[in-house]
Amino acid sequence: MVAEVIINSSVKNLNRVFDYEIPENLKVGIGTRVFVPFSRNKELEEGIVVGVKEKSEFKVKPIAGLQEEQIKEEYIELSKWMSKRYFCNISDCLRLMLPPGRTSKNVLNRVKEKEVNFISLAKNTEDILLSINNGEIKSEKQKNALEFIINNGNVTIQDLELFTDATSSVVKTLIKNGYLEMNKTKVERNPFIHKTTVKTVNLDMTEEQEKAYNSILDSGKYLLYGITGSGKTEIYLRLIEKMLKNNKTSIMLVPEISLTPQTVDRFISRFGEEQIAVLHSKLSIGERYDQWNKIKEGKAKIIIGARSAIFSPAVNLGLIIIDEEHDESYSSEMTPRYDAKEVAEFLSEKKNIPLVLGSATPDMNTFYKAKNGEYKLLTLTKRANNSKLPKVQIVDLREELANGNKSMISEKLQEEIKKNLEAKKQTILYLNRRGFSTFVMCRDCGYTVKCKRCDITLTYHKYQHKLKCHYCGFEQDEIKVCPECKSENIKYFGAGTQKLEDEIKAMFPEATTIRMDIDTVSKKNSHEQILNKFKNENIDILIGTQMVVKGHHFPNVTLVGVIAADGSLNIGDYRANEKTFQILTQVAGRAGREKDEGRVIIQTYNPDSYAIEFSKSQNYDLFYDTEIDLRKQLKYPPFCDIIVVDMSAKDIKELKKVAKEIHSYLKKRVIEEKFGLLLYSPVPSPIDKIKDRYRMRILIKCKYDERINNLLNDTLEEFYKMKTFTSRVVIELNPNNML
Ligand code: ADP
Ligand code: ZN
Ligand code: ZN
Repeated sequence: MVAEVIINSSVKNLNRVFDYEIPENLKVGIGTRVFVPFSRNKELEEGIVVGVKEKSEFKVKPIAGLQEEQIKEEYIELSKWMSKRYFCNISDCLRLMLPPGRTSKNVLNRVKEKEVNFISLAKNTEDILLSINNGEIKSEKQKNALEFIINNGNVTIQDLELFTDATSSVVKTLIKNGYLEMNKTKVERNPFIHKTTVKTVNLDMTEEQEKAYNSILDSGKYLLYGITGSGKTEIYLRLIEKMLKNNKTSIMLVPEISLTPQTVDRFISRFGEEQIAVLHSKLSIGERYDQWNKIKEGKAKIIIGARSAIFSPAVNLGLIIIDEEHDESYSSEMTPRYDAKEVAEFLSEKKNIPLVLGSATPDMNTFYKAKNGEYKLLTLTKRANNSKLPKVQIVDLREELANGNKSMISEKLQEEIKKNLEAKKQTILYLNRRGFSTFVMCRDCGYTVKCKRCDITLTYHKYQHKLKCHYCGFEQDEIKVCPECKSENIKYFGAGTQKLEDEIKAMFPEATTIRMDIDTVSKKNSHEQILNKFKNENIDILIGTQMVVKGHHFPNVTLVGVIAADGSLNIGDYRANEKTFQILTQVAGRAGREKDEGRVIIQTYNPDSYAIEFSKSQNYDLFYDTEIDLRKQLKYPPFCDIIVVDMSAKDIKELKKVAKEIHSYLKKRVIEEKFGLLLYSPVPSPIDKIKDRYRMRILIKCKYDERINNLLNDTLEEFYKMKTFTSRVVIELNPNNML
């Protein structure tokens, strides 16, 4: 018999099966992990069997040995599907399904220290692979260390020393040469160290909950659409309980950022920690390995994790839940660029088990699917504990300015903060800013410059003094005078949490404040530490970006101020309105979650924008109806798909040549084979240079299907045949981040 083997490698040319003879004495089937001789290398390569057949048309060598771990057949199928769907190697996908660390367990029983140096990649994976392949990195030890980190994410020096032949001096060199970086992070050996002992019991479900719960059958796809606090989690708990009774395992995905003890506690207090496993990127490999084993051995019947937990080896999987399904963290922005929701759909169909997506503000695409019957729509319209939805007020910042208030805080918001300080209640101030994009706006009339073809806010490129469209490449000079109202009060929007904190301190010297943004989080304090400090020390005001939005529950917060809602309205992305509505609804949901009613002040230069208007009443249905019409008119998803062919290289000439060749290849095929799609010419990417690499892109608008998938995979093949030196091409379908 002959086995078809995928070699564990990210080298694109190896993305195909190689035949090996199965020796009589070895038990080999689909999913068996093997060692095989490969090329002239003396060392054996790792591989995975993806097929078995009678004989090969080639002269084949025998499999040299077996590894302990196996991958289940349906996950091999999943990997094949993913590789095609996400334009990557099968081995990249299979790697997600291997246990963390991928080696024997003898080394994993150490007790973890309090603070650990985590090592991570300082560049993106593709760049590092490129440096390895083009010989920039020669030392085998360095290569091994880098490959280990690519496969396992953040690791400790100890992990590296145990699993690879790297020493701390190897790591030092890699840090010095800019491939790795080191961060001090606090970790716990046991993710359940915070153990709760309070046991909770089922709540009596409300009528709505009962109805939704009873509608979820033994298979099918469901969208649980319920306002914040409507008791979605209670339904998840019930569904999981039902699975436990049938001896089935449940996977529940939650957004990475909300995977805090708070979330996990709710499950532990209902079901006890013995049968729960938690998986996320903040755990060390040792911890992840332990959790993985607990799942594999069938001890963990409830798996709670970030997106990659969808690949965990659940025994007898019976249910998949994705909470806050609109969250962006379900899409991976690293190779393989998969969407956990799609993977969940695949598994749900293959295994014939229910998939439940939950959200107060569903993704437009999901809701569209629900409206079209692809998902069964279950609705919760009332808050379960009878607390009221917060009162939202909108402040027009143009008027503030007209009245001479140049600060970031309107009079109304200042007044409300003062009230809260006096009442000893807490406040969250949220600065709506995403990505790096800056845009230009008239402070008198709220006018922003948009691309006439794409209806997308133009992005300001400071150094070239230009405004550019991220989609079609249209550009124009920066403006000094507003074309609408002739005002010279033009402002470009950028950073701001620091400035905001300064203003607050000047305004309320007696108030205690804490700031949470990229700067404060990634360094000494984790996101969770800051939130705990805010809660436990009863700090008056929390100032932050996106991170403050997600599912937290602060009983004492009664006021939320949104400093400028416009940030996400102008991100140069067709989803600007959707994201704005989601964010505003989610932040508003942080206020008044218990007996005291919450107040929300949204400051904006665009009070008439429908995304802002509808978030006032938190009316998703109205928002959806308006937005879906626009999407239809402008041909954006779900009516049309957007494909981005991202190209980059160290040399601009090389890049331009690659872009030109790829474009003409696509054009030729599109014309000859009559593809009905819209192919744009190559343009510089919105951020046209990152870390010494120039970037260009080709955009395609189409109705994505199998044929187009083949065309794109062929295009990639074509690229790999070209003579290039530093170029890289990544293809993405409807990417979350258009920068
Ligand atoms: P969601 O997940 O939709 O935001 P939760 O499940 O967290 O909502 O519920 C919000 C609050 O309502 C929680 O404090 C929860 O304990 C409470 N709750 C949920 N269901 C019920 C119920 N049937 N009866 C009473 N309280 C409930
Ligand atoms: Zn104006
Ligand atoms: Zn445009």
